[in-house]
Amino acid sequence: MTTENNSPVASNFIRNLIDADLAAGKHDKTVTRFPPEPNGYLHVGHAKSICLNFGIQDDYRARGYDSHCNLRFDDTNPEKESEEYALAIQDDIKWLGFDWDGEVKWASDYFDRLYRYAEELIEKGLAYVCELTPEQMREYRGNLTEPGRPSPYRERSPAENLDLFRRMKAGEFADGSRTLRLKIDMASPNINLRDPVIYRIRRAHHIRTGDKWCIYPMYDYTHCISDAIEGITHSLCTLEFEDHRPLYDWVLDNISIDCHPQQIEFSRLELLYTVTSKRKLNQLVSEGLVAGWDDPRMPTVSGMRRRGYTAAGIRLFAQRCGISKSENVIDLSVLEGAVREVLESEAPRVMAVLDPIKVTLTNFEAGVTGSRSAPFHPNHPEFGEREVPLAATLYIERDDFAEVPPPGWQRLTPGGEVRLRYSYVIKCDEVIKDANGQVVELRCSIDHETLGKNPVGRKVKGVIHWISAEHAIEAEVRLYDRLFTELRPDAVRGADGEYLDFKGFINPESLRVSTGYIEACVADAAPETRYQFERLGYFVTDRYDHAPGRVVFNRTVGLKDSWAKQA
Ligand code: ATP
Ligand code: MG
Repeated sequence: MTTENNSPVASNFIRNLIDADLAAGKHDKTVTRFPPEPNGYLHVGHAKSICLNFGIQDDYRARGYDSHCNLRFDDTNPEKESEEYALAIQDDIKWLGFDWDGEVKWASDYFDRLYRYAEELIEKGLAYVCELTPEQMREYRGNLTEPGRPSPYRERSPAENLDLFRRMKAGEFADGSRTLRLKIDMASPNINLRDPVIYRIRRAHHIRTGDKWCIYPMYDYTHCISDAIEGITHSLCTLEFEDHRPLYDWVLDNISIDCHPQQIEFSRLELLYTVTSKRKLNQLVSEGLVAGWDDPRMPTVSGMRRRGYTAAGIRLFAQRCGISKSENVIDLSVLEGAVREVLESEAPRVMAVLDPIKVTLTNFEAGVTGSRSAPFHPNHPEFGEREVPLAATLYIERDDFAEVPPPGWQRLTPGGEVRLRYSYVIKCDEVIKDANGQVVELRCSIDHETLGKNPVGRKVKGVIHWISAEHAIEAEVRLYDRLFTELRPDAVRGADGEYLDFKGFINPESLRVSTGYIEACVADAAPETRYQFERLGYFVTDRYDHAPGRVVFNRTVGLKDSWAKQA
């Protein structure tokens, strides 16, 4: 990672804080963590957090510090979590180019310790077993303008609470019938401090601990203690946890643990034209609106990978998003731009025609008409070259021909000339149509004096891509576009002011499948091989469906620059 010019974490306020802590001797190392809940696949927002947390490990190590970043699964909601998700998350982190320190960690590894700390809090008179129903609890909690009221169970003695809590653990009570709550302050202006629940009863099978527990700790309680157990120095999270920080600190201040990580919040990445919430992405998958979590239209790491985005492109994007406390709403074009920028120098270029019209070269003459070789990349001779064979029948792109050209047209038109990329200048002599008036064939003639040379006495500005029909291979080409038609699909309100279902804004054009004709040299490409199809965009062989004898390409992203600029 560190040898790269696009270090994933540029300087930001968090790194300035860490630098200050190191300079002041508060710490002599950095320990961060990435704490996903294994309840879905990672998305682009998680990628930002991964680049931040693991980027700190890699960069501070490069600067000579003892730096670590843990991967810790926050597995406190057994009903929603699965091994499939946990494995996919590990794959995604590695694919993004990062690695965690030591073994994968799980909050459930700490369930015994969390339980002992809860007993400690009870013994200190700082936690109690409550029997309010969820509705009553809501009612007692008050709201932003009114203080809460104490639960009638709040003054139970430590001995009674200890007995009840042990019986909760032993399975004596029904699910949801009791909770363990911290005894903090029912009048606090911060609602998170109004005696938050830290344990609930739930008979659910857990992916790691099986049926050992019927009580599970809540996120806020679990997270701070897990951080402290692991010796995290800086616990980085998104801004919605700012109001939870007093609780994070309260718990650590009141149990016998001698590590107190500093929680620092930064703003969540929000990407326009998409949704970044596992819950919503899960709906798209479970309702069959996309082909799966790794559908190339999904903003998941596995979806972006399948789409052909590179890890370096995503890291560059994360770097450009920056880390701050202000709103981080980013247009999809920034992500596409970063991906394009990395592919621009990495992807070999070939020609492909995706919407063909047949061209017959009427004066093609075997043995006379020649062909040239072409470099795979104009700036990387080391990528090599291949022969681009010409034959009497070609395909060109339908929109490179116009019967009635608009002003300034430089491509093919009746009686006009154009250069075939890496080949001759041709002239369109005749247009052949079918019964419906649809152009089915162009009959053109070659100027045999123009292979690698300018025509004499005139300028031919336009250059188009093409492919020899007999030499091309056929491929299934999946043309992906944005998944949603709305800027913020999950924030559109109807006439009554209510939010509309984001799933109503799926772009019907987000996937089109066509048959493409491509240079034969791509036939043996492994899955996940990326190319630029000249003038069309970047494409990747599909990770799963591309196989010997079945060529399948996904469009990763179009080209920003017009052909005219590139030629
Ligand atoms: P979601 O709402 O999609 O489920 P989450 O925050 O609940 O997201 P977690 O698995 O708990 O998902 O997140 C793991 C880490 O990733 C957390 O530290 C969280 O702050 C961070 N993270 C999640 N979404 C974003 C985002 N959009 N931008 C930046 N960081 C994010
Ligand atoms: Mg979460």
